[in-house]
Amino acid sequence: MTMIAAHIQTVRARIETACLAAGRAPGTVKLLAVSKTFGADAVVQAIATGQTAFGENYIAEAVEKMTAVRESLLALSLISPIEWHCIGPIQSNKTRLVAENFDWAQSVDRLKIAQRLSEQRPPHLHPLNICLQVNVDGGVNKSGVEPDAVLGLAQAVAKLPNLRLRGLMCIPENAPDFIAALAVFTVAKDLFNKINHEGLSLDTLSMGMSADLEAAIHAGSTIVRVGSAIFGDRHSVT
Ligand SMILES: *Cc1c(COP(=O)(O)O)cnc(C)c1O
Repeated sequence: MTMIAAHIQTVRARIETACLAAGRAPGTVKLLAVSKTFGADAVVQAIATGQTAFGENYIAEAVEKMTAVRESLLALSLISPIEWHCIGPIQSNKTRLVAENFDWAQSVDRLKIAQRLSEQRPPHLHPLNICLQVNVDGGVNKSGVEPDAVLGLAQAVAKLPNLRLRGLMCIPENAPDFIAALAVFTVAKDLFNKINHEGLSLDTLSMGMSADLEAAIHAGSTIVRVGSAIFGDRHSVT
C-alpha cells in the first residue's frame, strides 16, 4: 500500500468514528482530498484507492493538473468519475477557468464572481455547484462573506441560471481545543439552518480540515477538506 493510500484509510476511519460519536450515518460526510501543491501522481494514487473528490486552491495549477491526471488515468486504463472543487480565492480574471474546468466552486463570496461563473459556465456542462464562503469567526484578513450578509447573497446566487447553490463553506482560524472549534463550526451550522428556513434548500456544509474534522462533523459538516493528513506537509506554497 502507498503512503497516500494508508493515510486515506486513516482519515476515512477518523470520519467514521466522528460520525458515530455524533450519532450520524458515516455516509453523510464526504471526503474532499485537498491536493494543492501536490502533483498529478499523488492525485492518481488517491484515485487508485477509490477517492473521487479533489480540492484545489491555485486555479491555473489545478487546470494543468487535471489534464495530467486524465492522461495518467488513460495510460493506466483506470476509469473513475472525478470531481474537482475550487476552494481557493477566485479573482475576476480566473472565473472563466473555474467555470470551464471545475465541478464545484466552494469559495464564492461576492455576487459579481457568481454572476461571471454563471455567464461563463459552458452550456454542455451541468450547472456549477456553488458554496458561499462565510467568514464565521470574523478573521479580519480572511475572505468570506460576513454572516449577516450571507442570506442576501444566497438568495441572489440561487437565481443565477447556470449555477446550483449547494451550501456554505468556512475556514475558521485554528481553535485551541474541540469545544472552541465546535462553537465556531456551530455558527456556520446555524447560518445554514437559517438559510434553509428561508426556503433555499442547501444540502452542503463544507467545513473541517486535517486538524479539526471531528469538531466539524460534530457540528454538522457534510464535506471535510483534508490535505496534509493525506498527502503530507506542503513545502512551499506560492
Ligand atoms: C489547504 C486547505 C485545506 C486543507 O488543509 P489541511 O490542514 O492540509 O487539511 C482545506 N481547505 C482549504 C480552503 C485549504 O486551503
